[in-house]
Amino acid sequence: AKTDGKRTWRLYRDELHQEMIRRLEMRSALNEAVPGEQMRLRYQPIVDLPTGEVVGLEALVRWQHPARGLLGPNEFIELSEENGSVVAIGGWVLREALRTFVNWHSSPAGASLRYMSVNVSARQFRTPGFVDQVREVLAETGARPEWLLLEITESLVLHDADQVWADLRELRGMGIRIAIDDFGTGYSSLSYLSQMPVDVLKIDKSFIDDILHSTQQMALVETIVSLARTLELAVVAEGIELDGHRQALVGMGCPYGQGYLFSKPVTADEIHQLLAGTTTP
Ligand code: C2E
Ligand code: CA
Ligand code: CA
Ligand code: CA
Repeated sequence: AKTDGKRTWRLYRDELHQEMIRRLEMRSALNEAVPGEQMRLRYQPIVDLPTGEVVGLEALVRWQHPARGLLGPNEFIELSEENGSVVAIGGWVLREALRTFVNWHSSPAGASLRYMSVNVSARQFRTPGFVDQVREVLAETGARPEWLLLEITESLVLHDADQVWADLRELRGMGIRIAIDDFGTGYSSLSYLSQMPVDVLKIDKSFIDDILHSTQQMALVETIVSLARTLELAVVAEGIELDGHRQALVGMGCPYGQGYLFSKPVTADEIHQLLAGTTTP
C-alpha cells in the first residue's frame, strides 16, 4: 500500500509538472499568435426574436494553434489576460471584426445588418489608450461608431469606477454602444444599474437554460427583461437552444436573442452565404 501511495503521488506530480509545462508553452506561444496570424474569428447571429431577422453579429475569437489545432477562447483567454497578450489579441479582433462587417454591410445582402458585437476583456479595456485605439480602428476600417457594440463584464463596470466610467462615457459620446455581457452572474445592484453608462444587457445562458422547467427562473428572466425596459436598455438573451426558449422569451417581450437554435458561431464565408439567403441558419 505504501508503494502504491508513492506511485500515485509520482503520477500526480508528473501530471502537475506536465500541466505547468503546458501552460508555460501556451503563454509564450500566445505572444506569437497575432504576429504569426494564428487568430481566427467566428460570428454568431443575433436575431430579432419576434421576426427571426438577423440584426447583429457577435465576433468570437479562436486560436489556430500550430500543434494543438483550433482552440476556443476558454482554453486561452484567461492565460492571455495573465500574460498581457490579450491586448494584442483584442486589438486584432476589433480590427478584423469591423473590417469584415464593413465588407458585409456594403454588399446588398448585408445592408440590413445593424451592428457588430465585440468582446473586450477587462485588461484590454483598462490599457491606457484603449479609447484612442477604438477611434483609430473606426477611422481605418471606415466603420461608423453606431455599427460597433462593445461587450464588457459587470465586474469591470463595478470596479475601478472612475476611469472606466469616464472611458465608457467617452465611447458612448462617440456613438458606440456598450453591452454588459453575462448579465446576472455578477453583483451589480439595481440602483447602480440605473446609473451605469451602458445600452444593452446580455442575459447569461445559465438563466435561459432552465426557464422551461422552473417558474422561478422564468420569473427571474421576466424581471430582468422588464427592468431593462424600465431603464430603456436593450436586452439580448444568450444561449437559446430550444424553440420553447424562444417562445417563452417572445412571450415576455424579450426583443433579441442568440443561440444554437438560430446558428452556432460560423465563419465569415458562412455568414456571407447566410445573408445571401443560400443557406438557412
Ligand atoms: P460569451 O461572450 O458569453 O459568448 C457566448 C459563448 O456561448 C460562445 O462561446 C458561444 O459559442 C456560446 N454559445 C452561443 N450560443 C450558445 C448556445 O445556444 N448553447 C451553448 N451551449 N453555447 C452557446 P465561445 O465562442 O467558446 O466563447 C466563450 C467566451 O470567450 C465568450 O463568452 C467570451 O467571454 C470569451 N471570448 C470570445 N471571444 C472573445 C474575444 O474576442 N475577446 C475576449 N476578451 N473574450 C472573448
Ligand atoms: Ca459576449
Ligand atoms: Ca455572454
Ligand atoms: Ca458567457
